[in-house]
Amino acid sequence: MSQINHDYINSYLTGLIPQHEGVLKELEAYAKEHNTPIVTPDVAGLLKVMIKSVQVKNILEVGTAIGYSAILMGLSAGQNFSITTIERDEENAAIAVQNIKNAGMEQNIRVLTGDASEVLENVEGTFDMIFVDAAKGQYMDFFQKSIGKLKVGGIFVCDNVLFRGMVAERTLLIRRKITIVKRLKKFLQYISDNESLQTTIIPMGDGVSISYKLKEVVFDE
Ligand code: SAH
Ligand code: MG
Repeated sequence: MSQINHDYINSYLTGLIPQHEGVLKELEAYAKEHNTPIVTPDVAGLLKVMIKSVQVKNILEVGTAIGYSAILMGLSAGQNFSITTIERDEENAAIAVQNIKNAGMEQNIRVLTGDASEVLENVEGTFDMIFVDAAKGQYMDFFQKSIGKLKVGGIFVCDNVLFRGMVAERTLLIRRKITIVKRLKKFLQYISDNESLQTTIIPMGDGVSISYKLKEVVFDE
């Protein structure tokens, strides 16, 4: 239950989406068995459309887990893509490296292990797309540390921004999540108001924000 849409809409839409075969199917089974979060099928579909329609080749991802979304994005990006993905959990990072190797993408996908708040400071290069799918309380920090690495005309995408509906509805709020929810709300307002971005927030999966970078983002000190 996502709490974001009616269950009948979710199941109907999920039923429309073709099942994956091969490596993605195997990783879905692994994720289910080990309770590892991976992007939901609808969000996977959205990533595929965005990557193909904007011809995304260089991707920066925050939150690798077992490498499922990285491999999925790689499959959509076609030849000569490059993905840098950051994961703080060493065990998952090692599993991701293995999965990426098994998928034959070790030349294209680089896993950096560590907290993205630190790792991002040292990431070089310019990206066509940034996908954030990690600790929700840190989205603003990830944004500040990475938006300068996104090309003008690139897209900044965040998963789980509606956090089971908690950002929108008080009665859903779990006490120990208050700080995260406050931070997410602040972040969503910020990216919605920012004149350097064109942002839309989609109540799909657990909520996805998409920001098109119109011009360089200026931070006031
Ligand atoms: N994008 C993946 C799922 C990521 S789940 C997929 O769809 O396949 C979120 C992951 O983010 C977890 O593995 C967690 O360990 C990692 N994470 C959370 N906070 C992080 C941080 N500050 N830095 C790096 N990784 C982080
Ligand atoms: Mg997610």
